[in-house]
Amino acid sequence: MNNVTTLQVRVKDADGYCRNWDDVLATLTFADEKDAETCGRILADAGYLVMRNYAPGCWITVFSTAEINEFPFECACGERYTKVEYARTCRKCRTYLGRNHHEVIDLRTGEEAA
Ligand SMILES: [Zn+2]
Repeated sequence: MNNVTTLQVRVKDADGYCRNWDDVLATLTFADEKDAETCGRILADAGYLVMRNYAPGCWITVFSTAEINEFPFECACGERYTKVEYARTCRKCRTYLGRNHHEVIDLRTGEEAA
């Protein structure tokens, strides 16, 4: 695992999606995971589409504060879910990491979910 986190920032279309994936507004690199998360959250709250690398070649969307409240449970591969039991049985974790992971983070508190 490298400990550099990269964010890609794109402009969202009027409907909130991104049609032109080649049009990257900025690529930001962070040595500190928490700084990347904080900066990504600020940009997502401001309405940009922010993607974070969680594994080589794999990207996840950084959610805004409003979206965090809707999808607060993050599994080991970085996918986010509405319910803790969905995060614990994430299909991507099984595919990419080879097994179910029971460590789920509640993004509202930053702590492991009960
Ligand atoms: Zn997962």
